[in-house]
Amino acid sequence: MTYQANGSWPDGTSGAVLERSAVIDLEAIRHNVRVLTAVASPAQLMAVVKADAYGHGAIQVARAALQAGASWLGVAHISEGLALRAAGIDAPMLAWLHTPESNFAAAVAAGIDIGVSGWELPQVVAAARAQQRPARVHLKLDTGLGRNGCTIEKWDSVVGEAVDYQDQGLLRVVGVFSHLAVADEPHRPETDQQLAAFREALAIASDAGVDLEVRHLANTPATLSRPDTHFDLVRVGLGLYGLSPFEDQTSAELGLRPAMTVRTLLSNCKTVPEGQGVSYGLNYHTPSDSTLGLIPLGYADGVPRVATGGPVRVNGVNYPVVGRIAMDQMVIDLGPDAERSAGGSLIGAEAVMFGDGSDGGPTADDWARAAGTINYEIVTRISPRVPRSYVNELPLDAAVTGSAPQKAAR
Ligand SMILES: *Cc1c(COP(=O)(O)O)cnc(C)c1O
Repeated sequence: MTYQANGSWPDGTSGAVLERSAVIDLEAIRHNVRVLTAVASPAQLMAVVKADAYGHGAIQVARAALQAGASWLGVAHISEGLALRAAGIDAPMLAWLHTPESNFAAAVAAGIDIGVSGWELPQVVAAARAQQRPARVHLKLDTGLGRNGCTIEKWDSVVGEAVDYQDQGLLRVVGVFSHLAVADEPHRPETDQQLAAFREALAIASDAGVDLEVRHLANTPATLSRPDTHFDLVRVGLGLYGLSPFEDQTSAELGLRPAMTVRTLLSNCKTVPEGQGVSYGLNYHTPSDSTLGLIPLGYADGVPRVATGGPVRVNGVNYPVVGRIAMDQMVIDLGPDAERSAGGSLIGAEAVMFGDGSDGGPTADDWARAAGTINYEIVTRISPRVPRSYVNELPLDAAVTGSAPQKAAR
């Protein structure tokens, strides 16, 4: 079922998606991919669709991103990649976060490239033997983030081990990559240090005889602010979804369009006297006779419980949430005359938690500020209880399941 771009629903539709939904505009995704591929060019773009595409729906986003010119897909877990393959998506794909229980054999069988820090190599090779097919591996160096990737000290030996396996025909080292720690703060010096370490690692790999398809380092903020980090491929997550990674720049300033709108309908609306306490703890009391609107979204839906004050738009006005956010619901204070000026009951009126902000409505950035977090977390944590619906979906075509589209010469 698809929520129509004009805000109406096909006749006869009913049910959960009408009451409460995260509406994903796939044209916004395609627009963002076009903007970002142009920024990254001549480097190619990997659409990072881990965590169900930051809450937007991995399969739909992956298809839209490939249609708009992304060449690769990136996920954290092999299981996420297998779900995309099961949906018939056969674009180049990389998974980079594993444990000894990860299903490397399934990854090899499904043609999913494996990011490795070093410890995985014997298991990956065992999987390749079992599948009688060489694994495709991207070696990951920790250039300073302190998370995944091999240390600089061990890089030589990990490269050597991988080349040995490659010589035995058990794997192919097709990529070298690393991840940046502070690219969202472009003035900080550590990005230069990480870049220098990355270049050194590439030289070592090259000396060892590795013939790479792709070298990749940049995430969204580096793609937008550091062309010297682009190499052959940029790994873009947040930007696909139209959100800004920078504290001091909005989506609109970056030419990006937020793709997710979380909207619902008012569950209740009633006039109360001055001094009415609101929600658990009674931390808010109406300052005068007023109208309380009940929003059927709470922390079980992914609204952060700490985000009291976050805005909800009803009838063209943004109202802050008052009182505590509960598991299923939260409350806005519409003021004394809300229903009179609306010309009747507001029960069932549309309430938008966040959207693209183009009409002055609330954004994921507003909720991030209210919750003391980042926009990444706001969209990603919208829970499965909120049904996703899609607008502007294009029909499947050859570009989706075929090999990556080639970038036209500019
Ligand atoms: C999540 C992730 C990305 C994408 O980061 P954005 O800031 O969302 O663009 C890129 N690379 C790796 C390794 C990641 O884990």
